[in-house]
Order: sequence, then C-alpha cells, then structure tokens
Amino acid sequence: MGKYAALVDVSRCTACRGCQVACKQWNENPAEKTVQVGTYQNPPDLSSLTFTIVRFKENLVGGEVVWNFFKDQCRHCLEPPCKEVAGTVTNGAVLQDASGGVIFTEKTKAIDYDEIRDACPYDIPRQDQATGILYKCTFCNDRIANGMLPACIKACPTGALSFGLREEILKNAEMRLSVLKKTHPASRIIDKDEVTWIYVLHQPEVQFQITRRERKPSALYALKSLTKPLGIFAMGAALVSQVARSRE
Ligand code: SF4
Ligand code: SF4
Repeated sequence: MGKYAALVDVSRCTACRGCQVACKQWNENPAEKTVQVGTYQNPPDLSSLTFTIVRFKENLVGGEVVWNFFKDQCRHCLEPPCKEVAGTVTNGAVLQDASGGVIFTEKTKAIDYDEIRDACPYDIPRQDQATGILYKCTFCNDRIANGMLPACIKACPTGALSFGLREEILKNAEMRLSVLKKTHPASRIIDKDEVTWIYVLHQPEVQFQITRRERKPSALYALKSLTKPLGIFAMGAALVSQVARSRE
C-alpha cells in the first residue's frame, strides 16, 4: 500500500479542465487535433498523449438537465491488474513505487495491448501506435519525490482535488461523504480499499461517464502465464504430428 493518496470530490468539479492542461504541460504532451461531436468533452478520450480527461455527461433528472463531470485517469490500484498482466510477460514493464504510483515503462511495448487494457477495471492504458509503448498517468512520481503536489492537484482552483497521507485522505473522504449525504443521499465513496485515487460521488454513479469493470481474480493471470507456454507446446506438438502424418 502506498504512503499517499489523492481525493476527488466530484461535487466541487466545475469542469474548468485546468487539471488536463497542467497534466499536458508537466508531461510535455502536445495538444491533439479534435472534432466537435456534440459535447464539450475535449479531447474525446484518453490517449497516449492525454493522461487525464474530464468526462461530461448530460442527464435528465426530474425534468431538468443536469450536467455531471468526472475527472478520469489511472486510479493507481493497490494491487494493479495491469502489473499482474505485465508480470506474466516481462518484469519491469509496470512498476509500483512507495508513494502509491503505478508506472508504465518502455518495456510495456512487449505486452499485449488488448490484454492489459482489458485487465484494467477502469479502461485506462493507451498505446502509442508508432512505438507500441503504453502510457497513462504517472501519479507525477517525479514531482512527489521532490516534495511537490501532482500537477493536476496543484492546478485545481476549486478544491475538488487534494493529496496527502493515505490515512488523512481516507478520513477526509469520510468527512466529505457525511456532509454531502445531508443534501445528496446517493453520495458514496468508490473503491477506496482498492485504489490510491479515491472518488466521492455526490450523485448516482449512473449519472457520470465512468468505466468500472469487475476485477478479474489474480489467479486468472497466473493461470494464463502457465497455460501460454503449454499452449505453444501443444501447438508445436500438433504441428510435428501433422508433419509426421503427411510423411507417412
Ligand atoms: S487503473 Fe488500470 S492502469 Fe491504473 S493501476 Fe489500475 S489497472 Fe493499472
Ligand atoms: S481542475 Fe479541478 S475543477 Fe477544474 S476540471 Fe480539474 S478537477 Fe474539475
């Protein structure tokens, strides 16, 4: 478990997207060409150059249009499925540091992209098509190591994002939840025991554009790593037997 955590108080997000811009600046990721597709969500999705995005969803609630915003990025899972997938293929592709950050390295190009994206409960990893390397939020591990806040958290003007020791962030999340529950009974904290980026939602989850898939059991990845060589062996054996038969 990492030393730190981040809290997203979704009720305070105004979708200014200062966090998106700060992330781009710190990581020196250029802007991407985009098109208007009937939403202010821009760019339309995460990519190898966009590590965080504010997702927009319009809802009709009690005859009124309600706009909900959700800052999406890697949650830095405590037991990351992406790391488990990578571990079965190559060591050192996905690292985890003491701060709580889960970091992709250049070795991710050796991993099956579909497999790692499918394993992520939040559909986060994105691939650079030219190099094959996978990218996502780094938890600004370089900034944290030098006593600075992650760039997005530093940039947030509304207090929607905060960072601190994990125990403090968990306490703050519970405190914020008890306040929000008074006016928004559907409020809840999501996945706090599984992730480093903890979200407090003030409205029903269905009103947000969130991907949350069931976590696959670790044993599945271990089994896959065992069955892969067996599969290759079985294919080889079948080929040899086929050649032998055709000679006969
Ligand atoms: S959110 Fe996805 S990419 Fe991030 S640590 Fe968890 S499994 Fe890995
Ligand atoms: S900077 Fe803060 S308020 Fe602005 S979009 Fe990001 S999380 Fe929301």
